Amino acid sequence: MKKLFLFLSFIVVLSISFVSAADNFTKGRWIDLTHEFSEETIYWPTSEPFKKTTVFNGITNAGFYYSAHKFSTSEHGGTHVDAPIHFSENSNTVDQIPLEQLIGSGVVIRITEKAERNRNYQLSVQDILDWEKNNGIIPKNSILLIDTGSSKLWPNKKAYMGTDERGQEAIQKLKFPGIHPDAAKFLISKRKIKAVGLDTPSMDFGGSKLFKTHQLLFKNNIPGFENVADLDQLPLKGFTIFALPMKIKGGSGGPLRIVAFVPGE
Ligand SMILES: [Zn+2]
Repeated sequence: MKKLFLFLSFIVVLSISFVSAADNFTKGRWIDLTHEFSEETIYWPTSEPFKKTTVFNGITNAGFYYSAHKFSTSEHGGTHVDAPIHFSENSNTVDQIPLEQLIGSGVVIRITEKAERNRNYQLSVQDILDWEKNNGIIPKNSILLIDTGSSKLWPNKKAYMGTDERGQEAIQKLKFPGIHPDAAKFLISKRKIKAVGLDTPSMDFGGSKLFKTHQLLFKNNIPGFENVADLDQLPLKGFTIFALPMKIKGGSGGPLRIVAFVPGE
């Protein structure tokens, strides 16, 4: 009798866990954090922009409809991932980034007011500590997203990145918020985040010359998501991020589809 009871309890527990597993992504909201790729997509002033051409579009001789395009793109433009090798010779290429680092719980630090006042603002250690006062310590292995409020300026290049000019000359006119290297050090050693993302063209602010935040993160094999969209749609914590880039063999980055699932009613 006792054995039968144990067996039945086992079946009950098993079926409950099946139900909750099947239910995982039904109650809540999916949020797309990705900008479309088109001729409007913002690229670094020295990077070749996105190009899409029509191979065929219409009714074929055989009588059926057919549509196909081809496209070309730089790795680093639009919503994309920076693989750690981008600034660190022996770190992971885009195809080598473990899936565990691309999927997981996210947190958002919002610095929209500071970034609006100063378009070259850099996230500081104090900003992180202030966030933690209200929301608790950032859990180990979090995917940290910085909302600078820049997404609403997309695709206006001048407003979003400080210039709509192209070429080497334009680099010194770049102006957008980023992550201060001291904050990057803190996030790596004290909070052990597994990935970081933000809604600007680069994790280092527009005025950066040495890209120290990139160097620090990538030496520690922490990938970065750039030009992420619509972070204002997310709560500060309690959601899951899925950030799956194109799997380019040996790539230093690539186009990224990043979405969030926020559980709820
Ligand atoms: Zn990049």
